[in-house]
Amino acid sequence: MPTLFISDLHLAPERPQTTGQFLRFIRSTAAGADALYILGDLFEYWVGDDDLEDPLNGTVSGALSALADSGTKVFLMRGNRDVLLGSDFAARCHGTLLEDPVLINLYGTPTLLSHGDALCTDDVDYQRFRLYPRDPGNQQKFLAQSLEARREQMRGMRAQSEASKQQKTEAIMDVAPAAVEALLRQHGYPRLIHGHTHRPAQHLHQVDGQACERWVLNDWYDSGGYLRCDAAGCTAVLA
Ligand code: MN
Repeated sequence: MPTLFISDLHLAPERPQTTGQFLRFIRSTAAGADALYILGDLFEYWVGDDDLEDPLNGTVSGALSALADSGTKVFLMRGNRDVLLGSDFAARCHGTLLEDPVLINLYGTPTLLSHGDALCTDDVDYQRFRLYPRDPGNQQKFLAQSLEARREQMRGMRAQSEASKQQKTEAIMDVAPAAVEALLRQHGYPRLIHGHTHRPAQHLHQVDGQACERWVLNDWYDSGGYLRCDAAGCTAVLA
């Protein structure tokens, strides 16, 4: 049975068709897999693990826990949109929360998993902003507010981020080759799987004479899709 990778679903109440597609994927395709890895930005935004009674969050965690109970292991990684996703949500999904990056043994091939935003080092503004929601003090202050106040603040941050993206070139928002190579070198030249850039592709990097495969996962804005890996290798499947 294969292992599947998805990311950047950006699930939100405003996009019920994507949620529907995700639920069908969980009940059909994912149910036939060894494991499902969700490499960040499962949600458009996440205001804290105390928001589990929200209908969308309850539906998603219910589907994932049923999948895990049926025998498909569920792994979750935080993205930049859902950086506050925590162990309570992972427990509700009967899944395991992963650090970013994490090196796994995928059918004998060392494979490094990451959301991918840390690799966009040409975007200096973003890298500076990236530190803010990851600061424990800032997280504490944010989580001390009411759920409604947090949602409101998150909507404001999203609007700001979308506006600043309009000012940036496509090249700046992609991963920086030097950052990719440094990461591959640091982890012993593994295969790399990441999302975030919404530019699904298979790349080959030559690093210090070593060939490393890099897979970029697709987002789910227009259509779904996943990366399917087994002992023979990986294949991108678009829905
Ligand atoms: Mn992202």
